[in-house]
Amino acid sequence: MDVQFLVELAQRTGTLPDLPTQHFIDGHWCASAHGAMMDSWDPGTGKVFLRFAAGGAAEVDAAVDAARRALGGPWSRLKPAERAHLLRAVAAGLRAQADVLAVAETLDSGKRLAEAQGDVRSAAACFDYYAGACDKFHGDTLPLGPDYLAYTVHEPIGVTAHVIPWNYPLSTAARGIAPALAAGCTVVAKPAEQTPVTALLLAQIIHAAGLPPGVVNVVTGTGSEAGAALVGHAGVDHVTFTGSVATGVNVMRNAADQTTRLLLELGGKSPLLVLADADMDRAVEGVMDGIFENAGQICSAASRLVIDRHIHAGFMERLLQKTRALTLGHGLRNAGMGPVNSAPHLHKVSGFLERARSRGAQILCGGNSTTDPQTGLGWFFEPTIVDDLRADDELVQEEIFGPVLAVQIFDDLEQALDLANGTRFGLVAGIYTRDFSNAHRLAQRIDAGQVYINEYFAGGIALPFGGNKRSGFGREKGMEALRSYSKLKSV
Ligand code: NAP
Ligand code: MG
Repeated sequence: MDVQFLVELAQRTGTLPDLPTQHFIDGHWCASAHGAMMDSWDPGTGKVFLRFAAGGAAEVDAAVDAARRALGGPWSRLKPAERAHLLRAVAAGLRAQADVLAVAETLDSGKRLAEAQGDVRSAAACFDYYAGACDKFHGDTLPLGPDYLAYTVHEPIGVTAHVIPWNYPLSTAARGIAPALAAGCTVVAKPAEQTPVTALLLAQIIHAAGLPPGVVNVVTGTGSEAGAALVGHAGVDHVTFTGSVATGVNVMRNAADQTTRLLLELGGKSPLLVLADADMDRAVEGVMDGIFENAGQICSAASRLVIDRHIHAGFMERLLQKTRALTLGHGLRNAGMGPVNSAPHLHKVSGFLERARSRGAQILCGGNSTTDPQTGLGWFFEPTIVDDLRADDELVQEEIFGPVLAVQIFDDLEQALDLANGTRFGLVAGIYTRDFSNAHRLAQRIDAGQVYINEYFAGGIALPFGGNKRSGFGREKGMEALRSYSKLKSV
């Protein structure tokens, strides 16, 4: 079956055959205790494409028990190089199932197929990277003087919980699960209720790769039922939460009762700074990808353009021309931009623009919800640019999580820096300039977990990623992530 066959099948039937619909616990598929099910919608049509198990405390208990037993089982006796071998088999499994994974991800999340295919590749790359890291993550010996031998050991932190959002379901699952496994931990994952499918397919692939039962478990359901039960569970040693600030705060409170360790990857309102001497074509391309990829539903989206007044008019002209040329359509058709993830989310994005309109904001293009022009269906929002906003405007301060670019104009670099740092978030920043002294000076003073120079979304799995300020704490990806999933013992 090639990808085109699956696309046509999905277009004809509205779904795919044989997708998993149950929890994956201790190496088995299982229904919810009371048989509860819920729907997943295809955002490109607004129709239900799958019913899946809605879990709660009972399923979470079973999954955490399985993960705890697996922690002391054959998994704990594997050599690091043997764990590496299994992780490589997972990467191969992801590549072998790439077509199904990508089409399922598009149906579930709405994202363009090409982006979903990219997500599968990055998930596979993630397992390969951490396979390579298994036997290279080691402690130190410390010189305490004669008569002493002192050393440190990294031990697996234990049972790790992973609460996953709907915007990058597979790749977020992979970036948490792969390093946790590399460090020798076991896993219970809870995908978002809007996008359960690829986490279940990943569990299936992990099982087929030969990891022992219970090492990776997936419980599907809502955040308030399954999610809250998981992050507050006494048998969980570490929670990786990716989602909104409000839920993150809740999760932190809930985890506090058990002093469970946390890694929080929360929202952003990231600035992309364009200095007067920037390569304009590159910068326009950076802004287009930065805000319209995945319909702007990216924690690290370049949702604010912070631009020098001298080049503002010319830059906006180029940007508008490109933006107006973006086509909309169902993700499976790979149009320029896909839908947003859900009807409530579309309503939320629209609300921001309605309020902006009533404040008299300069909406240069877009600003309205719409549908797939071919079918009249689905949850779409027009690519939107709002010009010359004040620093305290809601569009500048709040994460919209949609295809909405807020433009801020500066007169000098100090002001650019103030604007860049002028929100409660601190996830990423982009800088476009040919002057590398300015680039590095700004990079030093911007309060963000990562700064991109002349290429937005640069880097890959090797580069640590995480937030400052309200964007969260802890770092995923790179060798840093292994520290999150281990505890250091000094002997
Ligand atoms: P969300 O509402 O916070 O949900 C994220 C996850 O948390 C979902 O799986 C959700 O389950 C679950 N959840 C909800 N309430 C919970 C609770 N009380 N206890 C435990 N889990 C709970 O976030 P979202 O709106 O889906 O996702 C968008 C947000 O994620 C944006 O703010 C975005 O910036 C952020 N994000 C950050 C990163 C990053 O790396 N920094 C990456 C991607 C997204 P249900 O959906 O099933 O209810
Ligand atoms: Mg869905």
